[in-house]
Formats: sequence, structure tokens, C-alpha cells
Amino acid sequence: MPEPTLRRMRRIALLGATGSIGRQAIEVISAHPELELVAAASGSKAIEGLAPHTQVGGDLVELLERSEPDLVLNAVVGFAGLPATLWALEHGVDLALANKESLVAAGELALAAHSRGGALLIPVDSEHSAAFQCLEGRDPGSIHSLVITASGGPFRGRVRDELLEVTRDEALAHPTWSMGRKITVDSATLANKGLELIEAHFLFALPYEQIDVVVHPTSVVHAIVRFRDGASLAHLGYPDMRVPISFALTYPKRAATPIPELDLAAGLTLEFHEPDLETFTLLALAREAGERGGTAPCAYNAANEVAVEAFLDGRLPFLGIAEVVGDTLGAVSGEPARTLDELVEADTEARALAERSLAPA
Ligand code: NAD
Ligand code: MG
Repeated sequence: MPEPTLRRMRRIALLGATGSIGRQAIEVISAHPELELVAAASGSKAIEGLAPHTQVGGDLVELLERSEPDLVLNAVVGFAGLPATLWALEHGVDLALANKESLVAAGELALAAHSRGGALLIPVDSEHSAAFQCLEGRDPGSIHSLVITASGGPFRGRVRDELLEVTRDEALAHPTWSMGRKITVDSATLANKGLELIEAHFLFALPYEQIDVVVHPTSVVHAIVRFRDGASLAHLGYPDMRVPISFALTYPKRAATPIPELDLAAGLTLEFHEPDLETFTLLALAREAGERGGTAPCAYNAANEVAVEAFLDGRLPFLGIAEVVGDTLGAVSGEPARTLDELVEADTEARALAERSLAPA
């Protein structure tokens, strides 16, 4: 049977083109003649010739204005992705969002821009892509709760004392996903799931008490939506980011990918358990920051970015990451940001506090 095609070319701007998500996105785009890469950006690596419009570093908004995309895939890592997220949301340009940090940090500002702009906001994060698919078209009143899964990372099952000496290389050895360094460390501390909890709150307008996190070591179930009638819908698939990337770029067509279909005959282990919040305190801190609201999530993200960089540079032990984030959250006011300037100020202040907590007197 011939595949249905998109009605017209979709012009894509890919930000973070040299990263883990970026490279997989290029593979997806290359496989679909109706997807055209019109712009590409990287932080520091040369990408000349990859697309008609390219940019290394600098102002991503300028690139977006110049290239007039139909869809922006934001796969930049960290708060640096924020201007591009806000630009797409405000200008009514469809946004495929991998850069969870921008939504976590900007929360209400991003949602306000989204409702003014009115274009699609399609998550690329695997759990959120899964949740988006389970929730699409549902009556919000029928939803009991959303469950997002966590692999548990390389240190699943360990307690605090067993994490005192872990090295950077151990933290970077993720059991089920191959990703950029920052998110891999976040997966080892469970800060990634903390960021994802806040991301889910904003994406799906669900209060925190309706979002649960469970550990699911094989990363085959990505999200589950429980409905009030006792039925639950789960989204399953092998852990491969090309699936959510392709879903977002070809939405609503759900184009074919080269990923094998789920092989049930080979057996599936569906094991779930509670996360250990006493060992992986960054998950508990994220829930607290989310519930506090205002710029607390922005501060959580900023402090985590500073601490992860210090850990990767060998300036901070693994357990120090949570301490820096906890100290920073204890020191900020968390006042809501009414403007982008106020948000940037909150981010800057949290970074300064985190740097100070890194180097105690
Ligand atoms: P990565 O480190 O592999 O790649 C990051 C990309 O961003 C690189 O191309 C880098 O050059 C670019 N970049 C960094 N700073 C920039 C700047 N100031 N301006 C322009 N480009 C800049 O990271 P990744 O693993 O691909 O993750 C990207 C984002 O996607 C993160 O927010 C991450 O949390 C999210 N995400 C990643 C995965 C995954 O499987 N890798 C899964 C879910 C979500
Ligand atoms: Mg994820």
C-alpha cells in the first residue's frame, strides 16, 4: 500500500544539529523527501553546507528569522535553547521540542507565548511524545493521572553510600539510551526525570499530584495514562529516539521508520518500581520546585546545569550535584518572572548562587 504523503514540503530548522538528537533528526529528515532541512545550527562545530542557512553559535533567533521555517526542532542542550523556543511559540511556528530545559525554566511565559502564537507544540522527549499520543483527543476530565517511566540510569538500585566515589565515566555509561553528556548525567542523578516531571506539568496542564514517576529498567513502556474508569493506556516501543523525532517531524502522518516492530514472541519484561527518592534527591527536589512554582523550576534547572558542568570537569563529586541544587533552591526567592528579562535575571542569580555553593569558603 502506498504511504500517504504530507500535502506539501515541511521546511525544518534544526537547532543543535551536531548533537545526539540533531544527528538522528538528520537521518529522519534524509529519509523523507517531503521534509526539507532549511536551517541548521550548532554550538561550536562547523556545519557549513548542511543546510541552505547555517549558523555556529550566536543568536538562533536571527537564523530562524532568516530561514522562515515551518517547523523548528529545538535540540539545543540547556537554557541556551530558550530564545528559540519562545520565538517559535510566539510566532506561531510549529515547535518540536527536545530542549526540555527551556520549557522547565520558562513555564508560564512559554505557555502564554504558545497560546498567542497558536501553532503546534510537539514534544520530542520520549516519555512526553508517548504521553502526547495517549492523551491526544481525550477529555481532560476523564484523566486520572499520567505516569512517566525512568530507566533508573546506571546507578539504579544503589544507595547513597554506594555513590560517594562514582566517577564521570560510570555516570556516563547509560544502560538503555545513548545521548549527549548533560542528559546522560541527568539520567544518572534522576534530575532528568525531575526536569521531565516539570515538563509534563506544563505540556499537559496536569497538576503535580496527577503525575507519577516509576522506574522501569528496560525503557520499553514510555508513558501510561490512567483514566477515571479504571482503564490505562500505555505507549510501548524500543528505546530509540528516532521514533519520537519522526513522530514530531511528520505529525500527524506517523511516517514509517526503520525501527523494528515490538517482538512479543521474544519476550518482554515489564517491571516497574518506586523511585528511591532518598538516594536520588534531585527527583524529589524537582517536584518541590515545581509545586513551589514561580522561578523555582528555573533555579532548579540553572543550578543543575552549573553543577553538572562542574561534575563533568571533575570539580564536584557526583552527590555534590544534588547538594548544589538544594542549596540554590534554598537561597532563591522563586518570585514569578513577568517578562523574559526577569526570567533571565532569575537564571543568572541561580547560576551565581550555584557557583558559590560549588566553592564553599
Ligand atoms: P548533545 O549535547 O548531544 O547536543 C547538543 C547540541 O546543542 C549540539 O549540537 C550543540 O552544538 C548544540 N548547542 C549547545 N549550545 C548551543 C548554543 N548556545 N547555540 C546553538 N547550539 C548549541 O545533546 P542531546 O543529547 O542531543 O540533547 C539535546 C536536548 O534534547 C537536551 O535538552 C536533552 O535534554 C534533550 N533530549 C535528548 C535526548 C537524547 O536521547 N539525546 C532524549 C530526550 C531529550
Ligand atoms: Mg526522556
